[in-house]
Amino acid sequence: MLKESLISSLQLVLIFYLVKYTIVLINRLLYKMPIKKYQFNLKFTIIEFGFLFVTFSFFFYLINYSHENNYLRLIFIVLFTSFIPSYQFIIERPLTYFLQNKVYIKNEELDSFIKRSNINCKIRIINAEVTNAYASGILPFTKTVLVGKKMFEKFENEDLESIIYHEMGHLKLNHIWKLYLINLFFSMTFIVIIYYRQRLMANFENTVFAPLSIFIIGCIFGLLLYYIPGKVQSKFEFEADKYAVEKVGIENYKHALLSLDKISNGRVAKGGITHPTLEKRLKNISA
Ligand SMILES: [Zn+2]
Repeated sequence: MLKESLISSLQLVLIFYLVKYTIVLINRLLYKMPIKKYQFNLKFTIIEFGFLFVTFSFFFYLINYSHENNYLRLIFIVLFTSFIPSYQFIIERPLTYFLQNKVYIKNEELDSFIKRSNINCKIRIINAEVTNAYASGILPFTKTVLVGKKMFEKFENEDLESIIYHEMGHLKLNHIWKLYLINLFFSMTFIVIIYYRQRLMANFENTVFAPLSIFIIGCIFGLLLYYIPGKVQSKFEFEADKYAVEKVGIENYKHALLSLDKISNGRVAKGGITHPTLEKRLKNISA
């Protein structure tokens, strides 16, 4: 049973990397997105690989171990699937920040702005060359807006406030929570698909169908856990834009988007799977 669990785990880790690097490639070719250095950082990859392999093996072992108790098994499956959508928060981000010595800094100016805005969240500066802002945290007391240091230093006050309102919009409209639930749902669907693949392929393990089925599973993974959530997030970007416009007015907000585009070398204009193009965003707020 241990051997089976280790093999299943290794397969899933391989699927994970297949999808991950395909996504990097798609982003590079289609959206000309820069490749994030840490994704090819050897230390990062080794730690990540080890962590995923051990975690997956552990869960597969529990799930195999509980094959006689369906309720217990269901609980393990739910626990396992809830791990997938939290991957970014549990492993990827902390590991990236840890390896790059990033820390979050408190800032009085920003704190008083948050107080005036009357929205229940925290705000921190990411101590790194980041020209972006993020909304993070699902639970009420963990909701935080993160502002890149470079953005904080280079942006005029009005622009910075506009961008912060956009991130607050994500928090206020519970976008992160909704995305989490969507991911959780598709993760569960995906685990069910993996489970049936395993049963279906039991007699074909050493044939050409085995790698083929892994490839198909990889495509399904990309569709369910990347493409569809990406499209939903794209819709959320429009909503957050509208929210910010209500707060700062359309002209100020347009100005902020254009500044963001300039400072990020046209990244906003290009958009991506999770972000609509600048043109579409401007059209959306004018509508
Ligand atoms: Zn956004």
